[in-house]
Amino acid sequence: MLNIAIVGRANVGKSTLFNRLVERDQAMVSDLAGTTRDVNYGLCWWQGRPYQMIDTGGLDIAKPANTIELGIIKQARKALKQADLILFLIDAKTGVLPGDKLVIKQFQSSKKPILLVINKADSLRLRQLNKEIYGLGLGEPNFVSASNGSGVGDLLDVIVAKLPTLQTEPEVVPSIKLAILGKPNVGKSSLLNSLLGEERVIVSEIPHTTREAHYVDFNYEGQNYTLIDTAGIRKKAKVSAGLEKSSVDKSLAAAAKADVVLLVTDVVSDLSTQDKHLTEEIAKHQSSVIILANKWDLATTKNEETIKKVYQYYQKIFSHLTWAPIMFVSAKTGLNVKKIFKLVKEIYEQRHRQLSEEELAVFLKSALRQHLPSKEGHHRLKRGGNRPAKLMVYQIEQSGTNPPRFVLTVNNDQLLHFSLLRFFQNRLREYFKIVGTPIILTTKEKGK
Ligand code: GDP
Repeated sequence: MLNIAIVGRANVGKSTLFNRLVERDQAMVSDLAGTTRDVNYGLCWWQGRPYQMIDTGGLDIAKPANTIELGIIKQARKALKQADLILFLIDAKTGVLPGDKLVIKQFQSSKKPILLVINKADSLRLRQLNKEIYGLGLGEPNFVSASNGSGVGDLLDVIVAKLPTLQTEPEVVPSIKLAILGKPNVGKSSLLNSLLGEERVIVSEIPHTTREAHYVDFNYEGQNYTLIDTAGIRKKAKVSAGLEKSSVDKSLAAAAKADVVLLVTDVVSDLSTQDKHLTEEIAKHQSSVIILANKWDLATTKNEETIKKVYQYYQKIFSHLTWAPIMFVSAKTGLNVKKIFKLVKEIYEQRHRQLSEEELAVFLKSALRQHLPSKEGHHRLKRGGNRPAKLMVYQIEQSGTNPPRFVLTVNNDQLLHFSLLRFFQNRLREYFKIVGTPIILTTKEKGK
């Protein structure tokens, strides 16, 4: 989907144009009043296609002049990064001001296409404005009135004409696939609502009738996400607990497809064998996992001591997922819910990270230095007489990503104890700060 950013000085009418372009009921953009964020996203449909509009507003607040200028520069940079096309808005009533030129400067180095839009074009000053407008060097102006809507349709036609090549390009931002799993009543539906509740735009909802899976695409802060809902969480009201139980298999199918699994637990109840069973299955699928200790609002004490206790307890029960981070959240109050996205994105990036040979060579050296083979008997084998054979590790290579896979080259596989693989997995995790993702480590013998 194409991203179109609206930029311009304060009060030129960016938000009015944004609201005009974004059909709110269709796009399901939530009411953003009172939020402090500086960028709004919304969907604009034109000729049967969705466009994501980015309103770089938030500057329409009285501030000292120099702060405004700084704000404009920051805003322009942010928009530049995300946008495929920029709508540069000028107010016909005030004409071209120094602030406008400041914004334009920011665009000069980028190759992003810009459309000059003159708002409040109902104004009488239009005629004398002409010279200033052409002086900007941004080409033909597009006259609109964001408040009464005139000229907006023509502007959209110009946008479509301007972007014929971009339109056929595949999605550049990959979508991070998420699955929400957990036994009944831990708060999966509530979490889903909380995640989708505000600020996010639901792009499409495609029911896959054959598999009863729902894919919900949405965008949050410029990142695309696809939520795989095979457990019917979204239709919770109609699903009885018994039905949900039978959908465990489907949940696991979702886990297999997901990049990141959000495993929801109820932090104020004991974990059950059902929880444990779920983690064992998830571990088999090699998904990345964040464990959510939900209903944290109900915990009576929330100090370091209680957090530590929960950690220890979870690590003990979820012994297959000791590498999964635990987040203390409340789907009900929204506590820490937004932070989930940040962690998901980080995990996704690490899951797809390809380390260089050099990085790995340096890592191996330091890991081998830490590990003192001669002191630990488990990978010494008596061979023939009494001569102990020594394990040699020559190399570590990354053989794949998603999740990261590594291969250790050794002299003799037989000399390798399981605990040494664990050791290397843990060191890799620490050294490269790989969070929330399983690390697959195998070995091969040199020369084979
Ligand atoms: P699901 O079966 O896993 O989808 O669970 P629901 O989302 O339906 O939640 C089960 C019950 O727990 C409901 O009564 C929710 O209101 C409640 N609940 C969910 N999350 C929280 C939370 O973070 N705090 C509190 N206090 N209650 C919650």
